[in-house]
Amino acid sequence: MSIISQPTPSQFQAMILDSGGRAHQIKQESNGSRIPDHPNPLALSKWYKAEIEWATEQIDSVEASHNIKHSCSKGCHACCYQPIMVSWNEMRSMIPAIKSLSGEARDELKGKIQHAIDELERQGMRHYNGNTPDTERSHYFNAHIPCPLLSDDGSCSMYDARPTTCAVYRNYGDPSDCQTMADPPLSLQFEDWESIVFTRLLKATKTKKVSDGLRLLPVRLKELFDELHY
Ligand code: SF4
Repeated sequence: MSIISQPTPSQFQAMILDSGGRAHQIKQESNGSRIPDHPNPLALSKWYKAEIEWATEQIDSVEASHNIKHSCSKGCHACCYQPIMVSWNEMRSMIPAIKSLSGEARDELKGKIQHAIDELERQGMRHYNGNTPDTERSHYFNAHIPCPLLSDDGSCSMYDARPTTCAVYRNYGDPSDCQTMADPPLSLQFEDWESIVFTRLLKATKTKKVSDGLRLLPVRLKELFDELHY
């Protein structure tokens, strides 16, 4: 598969530094007025969607000013086999979308969640916590456990409410690298923007700590389904 343009190492580095600087500036200015007070799940979901759209625009703007374009494209879902860590707050913003599913679609999703949990158990990774060595990340990736939210057509079934970590991930190298390695050399997690969304999410939900339990997405989905009695 060909790529549009691959940044040079210095271009790539300059973009990372610029992105961090801009995120730091915005964090200092902190736009607290956009944060809803005690949102119900629907209000939280709408606000969270706008937050990840905003983070996407910021990343697009950083790329544009460095004349760099990521090589991710619609339908490519290689990164959906990575271990995705999510907070309970992010899960709460998926509630309206999950409730709007038909009974059949919900049962199908439930089956995918259980399949992922069974595989995690079988491979001894259910308690993967993200603070583990790269070898464990590779082990997870190589286990090839699809995200339960991945649709058969390769799209994300909860795109508007997808976890922040998914929304801020980009690859700038060859897209085929994402199919063969857990951490492609020119991939980038825009952690500064992720951190801003996380901080705002915590304020919106009056949660004290980021560590309101970052857990693997399939595990969180199972907890959410249990709580909703599905
Ligand atoms: S939540 Fe969506 S984008 Fe993220 S890994 Fe799952 S299917 Fe992929």
